[in-house]
Amino acid sequence: MTGKKLALEVIRRLKTEYPDTVCTLDYDEAWKLLVSVRLAAQCTDARVNVVVQDLYREYPTMQDLAKASPDKIERIVHPCGLGRSKARDIHACMNELLERFDGRVPDTMEELLSLPGVGRKSANLILGDVFGKPAIVTDTHCIRLSNRIGLVKNVTEPAKVEAALRKIVPPEEGNQLCHRLVDHGRAVCTARTAPFCDKCVLKDICAYGKKVPV
Ligand code: SF4
Repeated sequence: MTGKKLALEVIRRLKTEYPDTVCTLDYDEAWKLLVSVRLAAQCTDARVNVVVQDLYREYPTMQDLAKASPDKIERIVHPCGLGRSKARDIHACMNELLERFDGRVPDTMEELLSLPGVGRKSANLILGDVFGKPAIVTDTHCIRLSNRIGLVKNVTEPAKVEAALRKIVPPEEGNQLCHRLVDHGRAVCTARTAPFCDKCVLKDICAYGKKVPV
């Protein structure tokens, strides 16, 4: 099977398996997703969703966070780990949104990457989830599953995985596919245990799964 055909079949099956997939970071405004995705580095989405409630109780607006001292932000976000650098980035990012973008979240990769603490993974998430643009979010699940399934071969660098997936995944499918890879990575194709290939809907087309005895 070619890479494109494999990708289409994976998309088709995962759509059936996880029809209502969504981003598991809670947000109701675009700038809040920027905050959450920065906090989510090396932290679970569930913990981020709790911590941001405390953060927005104290600082409900972008302007409040821009004016707050990074030390005070750090005191709230430290349960997410890397508190100092995350607080500094959030504070600087909110200031740049206000100063350079009139308080709006930009909708291009280039502009998003110019913001403090925003890398390609975060920028893709914003482009896909907020603006409905083609996006490939190469988080740990996406990279692990893409390699196991055979969508990429021994590629672990996020930018290279993104580039390889962009060649075989239809642009309009990328964002939701990545959410579904997260769903599947949590439920079946797990990182901390051996993957549950015997329960997997991809077993007969997955490079790793095909080698696992029935
Ligand atoms: S068959 Fe196994 S390795 Fe392949 S996607 Fe499913 S659980 Fe993961």
